[in-house]
Amino acid sequence: MSNPLDSLYQQVILDHSKERHGAGLREEFLAEDHQLNPTCGDEITVRLHGDGDRITGISWEGQGCSISMASASILSDLIGEGLSRSELTERIELFRALMHSRGKGIEQDDEPLGDAIVLEGVSKFSARVKCGMLAWVATEQAAAKAETA
Ligand code: ZN
Repeated sequence: MSNPLDSLYQQVILDHSKERHGAGLREEFLAEDHQLNPTCGDEITVRLHGDGDRITGISWEGQGCSISMASASILSDLIGEGLSRSELTERIELFRALMHSRGKGIEQDDEPLGDAIVLEGVSKFSARVKCGMLAWVATEQAAAKAETA
């Protein structure tokens, strides 16, 4: 039925949806955004943390399906490495391309998306793309608010 890589990816998604890295809203944030995905019932609030041009992490609180929660956890790990604002924008754009690749995946150098690549399979199911994108859209919106603040 499914190939071994698919089940490995599913395991990573399940682990992240349980562990929820970055969950729990923290103080001292640059900006905050809230996103809803009514078709699935997913909901998330994301706070963007950092100083100057450096984004040092997100904290978030949400509820929803395992894909939306795992995606937020994976994104938290990715940003936790510390990114410039332009690097953050690039990664969000890259992830959006991955989510809209309809299962074909994308070309990427140096694996800038880290574990987020495990969500590639989600792009085969158009109804679930919003679940995968939820935390990323909230982060993008928060970054835009931080920009104008
Ligand atoms: Zn969902």
